[in-house]
Amino acid sequence: MNKTELLADNIIKGYKLKPSEALGLLKADFHELLYASNKIRRHFKGDRVKLCAILNAKSGYCGEDCKYCAQSSKHKTEIERYPLLSQEHMLRALKDARAKGVSCFSIVTSGKKLSEKELNSVCGYLKKAGKSACALSVSIGEAGPEYLKALKKNGLNRFHHNIETAPSNFANICTTHSFSDKLKSIKHARALGLEVCSGGILGLGESSEQRVELAFALRDIGAQSVPVNFLSPIKGTPLEKMKTITPLEALRAIAVFRFVLPDRDITVCGGREAVLGDMQSWVFYAGASGLMVGNYLTTSGRDTGKDIKMIKDAGLKIAGK
Ligand code: SF4
Repeated sequence: MNKTELLADNIIKGYKLKPSEALGLLKADFHELLYASNKIRRHFKGDRVKLCAILNAKSGYCGEDCKYCAQSSKHKTEIERYPLLSQEHMLRALKDARAKGVSCFSIVTSGKKLSEKELNSVCGYLKKAGKSACALSVSIGEAGPEYLKALKKNGLNRFHHNIETAPSNFANICTTHSFSDKLKSIKHARALGLEVCSGGILGLGESSEQRVELAFALRDIGAQSVPVNFLSPIKGTPLEKMKTITPLEALRAIAVFRFVLPDRDITVCGGREAVLGDMQSWVFYAGASGLMVGNYLTTSGRDTGKDIKMIKDAGLKIAGK
């Protein structure tokens, strides 16, 4: 048995990986790494893949300056901009997601935080959605205890709030809010017993060390569900000329995330088509246990039927809630 597989067996027995070991894994033999991360995934997640979907329920006009984002008013991008969609629109999108077998559906809104009027509308949607065959999530920027209590009271299961990148890289990516602002909202959500979904974007100019730092930061904040996105540069944003990471780099990163977060849901989200191309089905072998389907925030995803076929062709099953 090689060193990487031995480490995987120890992780399965409860060993907690150290950052120096994770860094070593980023440089390990690619096939040995994927074999080992797949072993961990199979142990903790079996042969089930969770699907998630989002609705961009309020687009653009954001006063923040996240360098990768098409929705910031500080960047000159060509996107559709609109205020908060109606509750009926949100409910239709939820129904559509349920019909596709999605385990978690999230309403996503642009901006630092929701106004009270917008919060009331999202609460109304949650109330009308009622007990659902899929988990109900929101991604509404910053949220204090009062907002979160209101959302939970109306049926929210999960709070989504990406930390985006390593703490040491955050100020290079956004200057209008801080990494600690992000942590505050996540702490409030955890204190209220909400599930936390938090991940990041790979390819924001972070070093290998910072990629590892991101994985450990996610372990520390107790995210149950970890979305992994890949930067697909958008024209008009400060990162429009950033070189995308290669498919092998992306798969290695997913594998290391599986070692660091062995029992969590690791979901591959935005940028997968652009970065992985024909290697998309390898994400499960690398350790992913979830896939975002349908459209992303400001870019289109591919047909969900193709994704479901890809999962089944890989000998895996679509998971329930
Ligand atoms: S990521 Fe969110 S907060 Fe940052 S610019 Fe985009 S919409 Fe605004």
